[in-house]
Amino acid sequence: MRGLMMDRPLLISQIIEYAASNFPDQEVVSRTVEGDLHRYTYGDAARRTRQLARALQKLGVGEADRIATVAWNTYRHLEIYYATSGIGAVCHTINPRLPADQFTYIVNHARDRFVFVDLTFVPLLDKLKDQLPEVAGYVIMTDRAHMPETGLPNVHCYEDLIADEPGEFEWPDLDENTASSLCYTSGTTGNPKGVLYSHRSTLLHSLFVLSIPGLTMDEDSAMLPVVPMFHVNAWGVPYFGPMVGAKLVFPGPRLDGESLAGLMNSEGVTDAWGVPTVWLGLLAHMRSAGERFHTLRRVLIGGSAAPRAMLNEFKESYGVEGLQGWGMTEMSPIGTVSLVRPQDRNLSAKEQLDIKCKQGRAMFGVDMKIVDDNGERLPHDGKAFGELLVRGPAVLSGYYENPEATAKAFDDEGWFRTGDVAKIDPDGYMEIVDRTKDVIKSGGEWISSIDLENAAVGHPEIAEAAVIAARHPKWDERPLLVCVREEGSGVDKNGVLDYLAQHVAKWWLPDDVVFVEELPHSATGKLQKAKLREDFKDYTLPTA
Ligand code: AMP
Repeated sequence: MRGLMMDRPLLISQIIEYAASNFPDQEVVSRTVEGDLHRYTYGDAARRTRQLARALQKLGVGEADRIATVAWNTYRHLEIYYATSGIGAVCHTINPRLPADQFTYIVNHARDRFVFVDLTFVPLLDKLKDQLPEVAGYVIMTDRAHMPETGLPNVHCYEDLIADEPGEFEWPDLDENTASSLCYTSGTTGNPKGVLYSHRSTLLHSLFVLSIPGLTMDEDSAMLPVVPMFHVNAWGVPYFGPMVGAKLVFPGPRLDGESLAGLMNSEGVTDAWGVPTVWLGLLAHMRSAGERFHTLRRVLIGGSAAPRAMLNEFKESYGVEGLQGWGMTEMSPIGTVSLVRPQDRNLSAKEQLDIKCKQGRAMFGVDMKIVDDNGERLPHDGKAFGELLVRGPAVLSGYYENPEATAKAFDDEGWFRTGDVAKIDPDGYMEIVDRTKDVIKSGGEWISSIDLENAAVGHPEIAEAAVIAARHPKWDERPLLVCVREEGSGVDKNGVLDYLAQHVAKWWLPDDVVFVEELPHSATGKLQKAKLREDFKDYTLPTA
């Protein structure tokens, strides 16, 4: 028997309209790329979003068209999120820090029709434009006064584009499973893979996040997403923030500790979300400047393991609750958050910190299991560990136009393989112990060990090379290159690094090169990365 309730779709346009109707005066504040502080309200944001929706349709943008953004976290980026998805197009956010070949691969694979670009990244697009044949035009996210000289073809000025459009618009009644946004992840080897979110998955993910016990976010909250809007939709903040009428504070291009602290205190920020590396910068600034947080109560630390010392410093020195979150691009992204339960609040500070160092309990809507090498389920006893698999309505069901990657990503029961190795305790707390995927996460961004190895063996005097992640206090992980010289070769560290610098992005360069007589191999001749990681577990990088 089917229920007799209305089958109304869950749509992203409903969020911005809801915010405009119910929190019309709530503020959205942005540090702009032009340099000043911009402030307006959800009422203004909705009006300009409708203007942009009209302008997009005039440009010929229609359902399923992919519209790229190469941009910081600002109000204009927010408007693009809602206007593109709202008309049934797909908002494709791109990480400008990607190596050029990955950047062009992504734009071409997604077949982006238009690219919205912040002033900062116009030179980048100018350089790459000839390799992006399918892009029909570019919109520079600024006003007439700040329009730069550019060789980009069919270029528009954002403010001119929307200026004459009326502020009313009838959003289409889309199917809730319509694609809404697209984000590529390079969290595994090979080319980046597209994760295509839907209106339904986006709204459900937002509702699930808002249901996380103890994470109260409402009209009294002022949320600062330091996590970029090109990194899994800033973990959902631009969607669930407006849903509950929270003030949004966008940091624009200024992500250093001093700028963030200033913005937090001047705008009354209560909640801030970001990767460990940005919080290191913030804490270093607070320490050296002797500043205090006036309103900050909670910091969500995710994307990489939250260091124990960081969680402790936020709490003990500043009275700010540091919370660890774990998730993936493929999961929209939130999977777990580590909050101390009411019954554990009388535990010692050390015991509470032990709990917060785990990745946390699943939020509603995320099922987790751990399995052994044969795919058999392991007990949630806090001891057994194995590969972590997940499923849920905000978890991907396949990569965008990538059947090979999709074929490898799921088990027989349709669960998604995270590539993380974890244990789960009887209270539901998940703890990551290792990773099966062969990548390095530096400051929240992925570096492919395989690409680095391939580049290294291109050196005529390197016989074999392996790259593993080494711990780093600032970046969490940095690449360490372990290699075997060709017989008779005297090539040294600088020789190898100089060579690599011609082939990989500067921030991918290994922090150290170690020469060994031979690398560990299995009986079948396969490089044993796990053994190598074990051999180098006490190794300290010279940069650390
Ligand atoms: P991404 O898709 O780029 O967000 O990366 C997801 C991956 O980052 C996960 O599969 C983990 O390997 C890693 N990760 C994310 N959050 C955490 C965390 N809190 N602790 C440890 N690793 C994390």
